[in-house]
Amino acid sequence: MANDLRRVALLGATGSIGQQTLDVLRRERDRFALVALAAGERVDELIAIAKEFGVAQIGVTTQEHAIYVERELGYTAQVVVGSEGLEFLAKSADIVVNAIVGFAGLPVTLATLKAGGRLALANKESLVAAAPLVEAVRGVGGSEIVPIDSEHCAIHQCLAGASTEAGHPDVRRLLLTASGGPFRGWSLDDVKRVTKKEALSHPTWSMGPKITIDSSTLMNKGLEVLEAAALFQLDVSRIDIVVHPQSIVHSMVEYVDGATLAQLSNPDMRLPIAYALGLPERLDHAWGRLRFDEAVTLEFEPPDREVFRLLDVAYEAGRRGGAAPAWLSAANEVAVDAFLNDTITWCDIATVVAKTMDHYADDELASVEALYENDATARHCARKIIGDL
Ligand code: NAD
Ligand code: MG
Repeated sequence: MANDLRRVALLGATGSIGQQTLDVLRRERDRFALVALAAGERVDELIAIAKEFGVAQIGVTTQEHAIYVERELGYTAQVVVGSEGLEFLAKSADIVVNAIVGFAGLPVTLATLKAGGRLALANKESLVAAAPLVEAVRGVGGSEIVPIDSEHCAIHQCLAGASTEAGHPDVRRLLLTASGGPFRGWSLDDVKRVTKKEALSHPTWSMGPKITIDSSTLMNKGLEVLEAAALFQLDVSRIDIVVHPQSIVHSMVEYVDGATLAQLSNPDMRLPIAYALGLPERLDHAWGRLRFDEAVTLEFEPPDREVFRLLDVAYEAGRRGGAAPAWLSAANEVAVDAFLNDTITWCDIATVVAKTMDHYADDELASVEALYENDATARHCARKIIGDL
């Protein structure tokens, strides 16, 4: 049995997706072996996870953390540091769960695909920023991406019977559902007074702080449009957003014959995580199962593109392609950080991102070096705009 175990690396182990992945792995010890871990903070928690699963390879972000882990672990493990460490860990497993938040997840995405592994992808920012570079290494040595993001996981399932021809000729469009976040129905005046506490209270999902803020501005959905375009190789003009406050329909695919396929379940990220780990098998846990023994109401409405103006900014970045999505995502990371540090208001987040995009000059994104350069320039630009506000 032990030889059949699929080796899993969980990078970003201490976060929201990380914790829920551990929950899946705890119940599937006959199927998966956790062989590598990484986290950026909460090192004591990382050590506790390593001990629980007997993990032999651990990634941290600083030399100090490395020394601390080696001292406190109580057994000998290989401790690696920084983005090179992440690349090393990404090559050590059959399945790599990229549960890191933000652009920092980029080395994991690229290294996993180059090494021929399965990338179980939660870290949407790396795919959004690096789409042309990801495309170049996808499929190398049998590598594949299976999305953990619930909308994309739903679409992955709804596309199971679709044509395998490039460009999906039998698909009319993808419909990404959005809960609408805590400010659904608020007016332009209302959102001027948004507090950090309000922005951090998501109505249907419990997630890390960055994606929770992104969900409040709907930038999360904007990033997801770009994520879907890259994952399913479709133009953004064939990807629409529909607000669905119950978060039960996780997304839909509309076929050319008029049929729309959807995946339904209660909100529980362990379902898409288990899907991405288990494929082609389905793991028998019934996470998020709908019972239909009481009335279930499903509502759908279009998003308010005036209050949530980052949606149009994201679509525009998708139309421009190249490094535009990388700029968008970088500016957004800087703006969300500034909001979480009480430097700017909630409305300023969209202003900073939109103004940063005004400085973007077309770049086709030919190399990883070019991506790091674009990322740094966009961040510099966003910080300057924040300083001038
Ligand atoms: P989180 O903030 O809860 O956790 C982030 C994890 O990344 C932590 O373990 C942190 O230590 C680690 N990390 C940060 N920087 C790192 C670095 N430089 N090196 C190594 N580790 C680092 O975030 P989350 O909510 O779990 O989200 C993770 C990713 O998954 C994000 O890209 C998010 O958009 C995506 N996602 C999350 C959810 C969700 O339900 N939480 C749903 C869909 C997609
Ligand atoms: Mg999502």
